[in-house]
Amino acid sequence: MKGLKGKTAIVTGASSGIGQAIAIRLAQEGCHVAINYRSDLEGAQTTETEALSRAKAAGHDIQTLIVQADVSQVDDIIALMTKVCETWGTLDMLINNAGIQTETPSHEVATDDFDKVIDVNLRGSYLCAREAIQQFLQQAKPGVIINVSSVHEVIPRPQYISYSISKGGMGNMTRTLALEYAKSGIRVNAIAPGATITPINQDWVEDPEKKAEVNKHIPMGRAGTSEEMAAAAAFLVSEEATDITGHTLYIDGGLTLYADFREPWSA
Ligand code: NAD
Repeated sequence: MKGLKGKTAIVTGASSGIGQAIAIRLAQEGCHVAINYRSDLEGAQTTETEALSRAKAAGHDIQTLIVQADVSQVDDIIALMTKVCETWGTLDMLINNAGIQTETPSHEVATDDFDKVIDVNLRGSYLCAREAIQQFLQQAKPGVIINVSSVHEVIPRPQYISYSISKGGMGNMTRTLALEYAKSGIRVNAIAPGATITPINQDWVEDPEKKAEVNKHIPMGRAGTSEEMAAAAAFLVSEEATDITGHTLYIDGGLTLYADFREPWSA
């Protein structure tokens, strides 16, 4: 992808799933990648090994950094940014990927559980974006942010109220920051995965019956992969997408196309 070689990137929550795939893909494209993890050091090391090996195979000489930080903690975020900028002297892109979800009927959600999801998915993403934008402005060169949202940015998800709110908010955060900083050449976009095969979906990914039920609701007939999400992220941060800002790109096999309308069911 054009314009990625030698760029520096931070990927939050890069020890598994979509974040891991994005970090590996960016390395393959020639980026130096900071692999953030909260508690799974082994997962982050797997990301690093695979990132270095793919970069080498593609002929790129890249560096990686593994940085522990809990994105719900502002001091951790500042330390993450400081570490990356002190090491590489510059930051070109931030991928806000870290995310969690909990399932509870909305009237029974404990306040602390609600706060936890918002603090990671929405507040954490905003604080990472805030720190990254400060760095972009200080460098006086364009930077790019990708927020990993969800189809639940627009599809209501009963029993996942905090998750739905967080991703809905992420959509507005994407558009607001994109508008505010366009004049500085900073682009902000989101990718919105549909059902994707990652650890967050362990309950249905490993159960053939449940997986078939999930696939049934997707027009393309199957769940997406982390690599498909990573390909879209790589495109949006690249110089192939220099005129795209403020968008959420749905990568969902058609899940947001109202699958129930595949066949007419009303006169
Ligand atoms: P995942 O559980 O593999 O990835 C989430 C990552 O976030 C993990 O590595 C986890 O350690 C990290 N994380 C959680 N809390 C953190 C914190 N406080 N600080 C730093 N890192 C933290 O699942 P995934 O599917 O790869 O999820 C990645 C993103 O994609 C999430 O934002 C999720 O909401 C979004 N998403 C996933 C799907 C899907 O079907 N898998 C669909 C839509 C959106």
